[in-house]
Amino acid sequence: MARPVQYNITDKPLEKPYSIVQGPEGYMGEGFFASKLSDVVGLARKNSIWPLPFATSCCGIEFMALMASHYDLARFGSERVSFTPRQCDLLMVIGTIAKKMAPVVKQVYLQMAEPRWVLAMGACASSGGIFDTYSVLQGIDQIIPVDVYVPGCPPRPEAVIDGFLRVQELVGSENLRRRNSPKYKELMETYGIQ
Ligand code: SF4
Repeated sequence: MARPVQYNITDKPLEKPYSIVQGPEGYMGEGFFASKLSDVVGLARKNSIWPLPFATSCCGIEFMALMASHYDLARFGSERVSFTPRQCDLLMVIGTIAKKMAPVVKQVYLQMAEPRWVLAMGACASSGGIFDTYSVLQGIDQIIPVDVYVPGCPPRPEAVIDGFLRVQELVGSENLRRRNSPKYKELMETYGIQ
């Protein structure tokens, strides 16, 4: 006898139940594939970004939606959200950062190993948002370099996914020598980071 309630039944099978990331450009022949090392490293890095969510206020709720099943950031290789700076490569600053908290954000950033990237999620992290007051940091780029800004108060999860894809583009196309370049060192020095 059929069960009265049936779960997970789809009439139409999915055309593509999974997707495979395109490989880098290169030369292929019988039994070999040759490409640039930087492209291969970039491909691996961009599809395995481990985020550290530094969530302080309401934007954090949007981040929860982003990680839950409907939006599911894990689809982009970021299943593993961690609160251990030494194991993360993307610092997501989410919410209002009070000036008292600024040194903590900077310390978390410093504890992350290179290469590291930063995404400012929402108006508060990007610019202080509506809190134009003496106690709120008017944008985290006053203390650490930011790679991608996601506007909105709060930004919808789709906007954050868009920002995350921009981070992936940066990660995938970054020159392997960038972090040792004089220009990068100069950038770090402007933040007082050796
Ligand atoms: S940007 Fe808006 S929603 Fe996000 S932390 Fe600031 S006030 Fe809250």
